[in-house]
Amino acid sequence: MSKRKLSNRQKERIQAVQEKRRTRAAQSNSENGESIDIEQLGPELKGTVITNFGTQVEVQTADSGAEQRLVRCHIRANLDSLVTGDNVIWRPSPTLGVVVAREHRHSELMRPDIYGKLRPIAANIDTIAIVFSPRPEAFSNLIDRYLIAAEAQKIQPILIVNKIDMLDQGHHSKVSQLINDYQFIGYNVFQVSAKTGHGIDQLQAYLAEKTAIFVGQSGVGKSSLTNLLQPEANMAVGALSERKAKGRAKGTHTTTISKLFHLSAGGKLIDSPGIREFGLTHLSAEEVIDGFIDFHPYLGQCKFRDCGHDNEQHCALIKAVRDKKVLASRLNNYHQIINSLDDNQ
Ligand code: GDP
Ligand code: ZN
Repeated sequence: MSKRKLSNRQKERIQAVQEKRRTRAAQSNSENGESIDIEQLGPELKGTVITNFGTQVEVQTADSGAEQRLVRCHIRANLDSLVTGDNVIWRPSPTLGVVVAREHRHSELMRPDIYGKLRPIAANIDTIAIVFSPRPEAFSNLIDRYLIAAEAQKIQPILIVNKIDMLDQGHHSKVSQLINDYQFIGYNVFQVSAKTGHGIDQLQAYLAEKTAIFVGQSGVGKSSLTNLLQPEANMAVGALSERKAKGRAKGTHTTTISKLFHLSAGGKLIDSPGIREFGLTHLSAEEVIDGFIDFHPYLGQCKFRDCGHDNEQHCALIKAVRDKKVLASRLNNYHQIINSLDDNQ
């Protein structure tokens, strides 16, 4: 399990702390410098953070149904930072609501801040959907990087091959190979077209009960898919990546406003420009090998404990490739990714 995953004792401790905060919240009558009369606060209600604006968040009041609405809320000063996807307890007031507690997160999507410190950018995500397409060309090496990042965060990845309508146009063999390969490893692969609607029903059925994010290189159709699954999302197709390419100096971080959408066929989608390419940084060598789930049965089986998995005679992974249990492309990608880590250090 994740090193970041909390033990029950830790959870209990956090819950106890949150409980104390709630009690204190009830006694306090000042909130973020603005005076809110505690007497006027309404009952404790459940909600989900849709967007964080810094000192305020937009909270969706109920999970579904006619009652559902968005409320701007203050965040209690002593509450941990809230991110999109957080389930919270909030209390209505005549002006703005007040978030008084945050519920336990079952997953956290982490990303380094400008100081390199890992911080959560979204919470309670069930599925990381890695989107690729025939054009721009898909590379298994890039897909593997996203998979490693998803596995490192202990969030279930799936693969979405978009633009399946283009497969007639001469891109067939490479994409088909990728589909076969990742199915062989055991990943769920959805073949869809945001243009024709092909395969969208199956994708909707899968996402219906989940909170998902879409990741993948720009141009593969993440915005198009989002718009199809949630017409009100109204994302600018093709515009985001263009703007980013032009406006983003190397090494700087754009402000990442995350947003949560309810999908028309059920399920939730969290979108943030900062999340989309989250997989391409901060991987450790240990996370890299752990992220290759097909290697797991062979790890620890090599003759030497510090095996670099490049020695023909003694390596269990090389033997697994020879025995057609592990794909050669995966072992190649493993070496490439490990070498790229060395380059960055
Ligand atoms: P994003 O950068 O991943 O959000 O990609 P976009 O949604 O902006 O799409 C990039 C381009 O691919 C746009 O010109 C879309 O019209 C096009 N596109 C998206 N989905 C499909 C599809 O299923 N088939 C085809 N042929 N084109 C698509
Ligand atoms: Zn080995």
